[in-house]
Amino acid sequence: MTSISEDTSKTTQTNGKATFDRLHHMFHADVSRPIRWRREQLTAMERMLREHSGDIARAVRADLGKPAAETMLMEIGLVLDEIRFVRARIGMWAARQPKPLHYLLQPALGWTVAEPKGVVLVISPWNYPVLLSLEPMVDAIAAGNCVCLKPSELSPHTSAVLAKLIPEYLDERAFAVVQGGPKETTELLEQPFNHVFYTGGGRVGSIVMQAAAKHLTPVTLELGGKSPVFVDGTADLNVAARRIAWGRFINAGQTCVAPDYVLATADVAQKLAEKISEAVTRFFGADPRQSASFGRIVSERHFDRIAALLPSPDVPGSGRAVCGGETDRSERYIAPTVLVDVSAKAPVMQEEIFGPVLPILTIADADAAVEFINRRPRPLAAYVFTRRSSTRRLFEREVSCGALGFNLPLGHLISSRLPFGGAGASGLGSYHGKAGFLEFSHIKTMVSKPTFPDTLELVYPPYGKAKQAL
Ligand code: NAD
Repeated sequence: MTSISEDTSKTTQTNGKATFDRLHHMFHADVSRPIRWRREQLTAMERMLREHSGDIARAVRADLGKPAAETMLMEIGLVLDEIRFVRARIGMWAARQPKPLHYLLQPALGWTVAEPKGVVLVISPWNYPVLLSLEPMVDAIAAGNCVCLKPSELSPHTSAVLAKLIPEYLDERAFAVVQGGPKETTELLEQPFNHVFYTGGGRVGSIVMQAAAKHLTPVTLELGGKSPVFVDGTADLNVAARRIAWGRFINAGQTCVAPDYVLATADVAQKLAEKISEAVTRFFGADPRQSASFGRIVSERHFDRIAALLPSPDVPGSGRAVCGGETDRSERYIAPTVLVDVSAKAPVMQEEIFGPVLPILTIADADAAVEFINRRPRPLAAYVFTRRSSTRRLFEREVSCGALGFNLPLGHLISSRLPFGGAGASGLGSYHGKAGFLEFSHIKTMVSKPTFPDTLELVYPPYGKAKQAL
């Protein structure tokens, strides 16, 4: 592991312009366009992940304290699934799609082709540093692009492993990995990339979009926000508690689509809080600090931010911990914490928590929950635990969000068949599977008409009576 993270000199490129120019040249030399090349690159990435899964899992653990099994399941495994899914379909997606033309143009043909956008920049965050770097890359490769990856400076071990392995396994001519933070990213964003794919918080998302606007570069923004859960008295509380606890506390709460807060009807709020606490004990034992299945907070800055959201006697409405509440800054540990008696005005309800803290608020009914959610920015995901089909329909109709899960947090993330993305403040555009292929493609329209006989005579001026009647 040490040797991998130390040897990055060969692959790290800090000059944004030189990196872009090199990839631009390679794209126009047609390196990345052949379908066969795309499949080969995906196979090479598959091999890279299989042969170095141990190195990668160790790097992610060094960055986030993430259990190796979680990295295998939720990062490496998902990238492998995506590779297999898109590799088998590139030929079909990239093929000409015939389209009928207007009768006045007949005889004529119309069709579309998906062409690669060109050189794309992928800016990834630290929380799933493998998945959120490689899955966009898989879709960009499938679409025939050259890719510059800028992984997060907050997960330096993983970034170093990726910077080492990618040029070893993939065609070095068509890829670059630039390590670094805001300075390096700013330099890259000055270049006229053909697409920028950004995953991270909304503040930087806005910076990225403004920088891209200078070159009229299209962007995908995979952002975050507060994803709500609604639970009513008809729900199976045992299952709801386990699934909510899994979704909230996986990766120590640092998951973009994690349940951020629960709106529970008064008849179940306290019971649900207790059952989620029981699920926490079942998952992580009586002392989660000792559990090999529970991670740590990525940095001291994030630790301080999350710790400040915990209940305090000085802050009315900041809640009461049913479980958890313990913190240890020296190892950036925050216990899985479930809060009740939380007010909508509490600090924990003002920003995305992005840590292992779950506030449960009491709400009158489903209509009030929908109103509560719709008064706030559009969430990346919303989850509903109920047996009432009228409540499911209400949410489907009324709540606009990236994805809606009935009885299942996080599930939509784990499928190459479903587009993944946000709505409004939680993001712009989507990817995974065909959605990702299209996101990184330009759909070019083509038409063709024989020159003899020239049947366009039908539409040429002058416009006599017969033509006006057409
Ligand atoms: P981060 O701090 O790692 O930043 C993301 C990327 O932006 C990094 O590569 C970083 O170097 C770059 N960056 C940071 N400051 C910059 C600046 N001033 N100019 C240009 N680039 C800059 O990640 P983060 O923002 O802490 O990520 C957490 C957020 O991401 C949460 O809101 C979470 O919900 C969201 N997220 C969304 C998804 C999704 O798929 N929608 C996935 C993961 C995380």
